[in-house]
Amino acid sequence: MWNGSGSLARLGRRSLTRGLSARNGRDGTGLSREWTSGAGSSETIEGGVQRNPGDARPDFLRPQRRDRPPHHEALRPGARQETLREANLLLITEEIFASAQPLSRADLSIRTGMTRSTVSRLVDDLLTAGIVREGSPMVGPTRGRPAVPLTPARKTLAGLGVEVNVDFMAARALDLTGSVLAEAMVQGDFRGSEPEAVLRDAGRLAAQVAQQGVSAGARVIGTVLALPGLVAADERSLLFAPNLGWQDVDVVEQFTAGIPEGTFGQAVSAANEAKLAALAVAQELTEADGEEQTFLYVSAQRGIGSAVVIDGVVEAGPHGWAGELGHISVEPAGPECGCGSNGCLEVYAGKRALLRAAGLDPSASAAELAAAAEGAEGEQAQEAIRRAGWAMGVAFSGAMNVLDVHEIVLGGAFGPLADLLRPCIEEELQRRVLAAQWAQFRVRESGTGLAPATSGGALRALRAVVDAPQDWVPRA
Ligand SMILES: [Zn+2]
Repeated sequence: MWNGSGSLARLGRRSLTRGLSARNGRDGTGLSREWTSGAGSSETIEGGVQRNPGDARPDFLRPQRRDRPPHHEALRPGARQETLREANLLLITEEIFASAQPLSRADLSIRTGMTRSTVSRLVDDLLTAGIVREGSPMVGPTRGRPAVPLTPARKTLAGLGVEVNVDFMAARALDLTGSVLAEAMVQGDFRGSEPEAVLRDAGRLAAQVAQQGVSAGARVIGTVLALPGLVAADERSLLFAPNLGWQDVDVVEQFTAGIPEGTFGQAVSAANEAKLAALAVAQELTEADGEEQTFLYVSAQRGIGSAVVIDGVVEAGPHGWAGELGHISVEPAGPECGCGSNGCLEVYAGKRALLRAAGLDPSASAAELAAAAEGAEGEQAQEAIRRAGWAMGVAFSGAMNVLDVHEIVLGGAFGPLADLLRPCIEEELQRRVLAAQWAQFRVRESGTGLAPATSGGALRALRAVVDAPQDWVPRA
């Protein structure tokens, strides 16, 4: 399970989701640090976007940064003091959350070009709001006041992530350090279910987890609901989830019905499961490898979802609908899919399809399938895995030819099968990807554990704090 303090480090600059508009209307792209206050203002914000000098990837692959903060209109010459304070708060918060090492007030002053007194005032606001915390003073090599390290606060503000999928529902509360405060998971079979009843149960489960977060000392600030389907741009309704059999459901309305006001924080929204899971995986890989990763995340439950992550940013497309890899047709004349098309990837490689082809019970686990394939009479299971690997290789190579992304991270039910699937997938990639000779393919297992979309949802809810710290600190 993904856990550990400091896991939200870099949240300030990356781990963003493009194409899923944030509740406050911002699009979640990274903020450039290249804006300046107008003439006559008391402080100047400066500083270029940091680049890794050893990174030679072309610029067109980088996430497009805004040149100005979203409220740039107000930051023109003559900016009001309040707006300037907001911009400075944002800059300080981003620095603290983006840094792998704790920063002192002096470090922040150097990094932002703000005076020590301005930094101290802003840090005091962030301390009061429970957004950052002070560690024990560190005595440096030079004489003078010891530096007090500043890091994201523990157990103060919490984000709640909830997932309703075909075989389970789950909820998880994370604090600003990315640590799990509470979580719960319930198995079920929600194929062809009644949305209202399922969402009411999910609301109750989530409310219990929220309550446990409160008992741990935190305040829930927002909730994001993950669903295996297309979510409308308003982030409140589900358009279509073929494996649940749901269509045009006002999911946020039904999820929150009967739950006391404020239980889920200030905002509740819905998003696609694979995109949120990819957000959690991107965060984890960034922590593990020390830099933002580029990969295609593939989530397998009964259906197959995916998300493209470039430089740590989930690229969800203009409507948030990108990455429906499960419905790439690998055999146009193949069996019918729940989506209305034929021969889709998930008809061959979805969890239930795979188990059925292996002659196992549809409720069997991926580990049981792996065991069956390695057993003495594992021929049928091996053949099922080969076929799924072939279908995945066909679909992945299509994605790779379009996207120029050569790393695949297998999550959900595929994780434990990664070693068995890899040879079949790679065989197809070698044959079908035009750049195969020059590309470095990598197919690896995600280590995020169960229901990573709940972690992604909680992280996304917490972004409201890092995106707009002024909304959470006392007024000047
Ligand atoms: Zn389909």
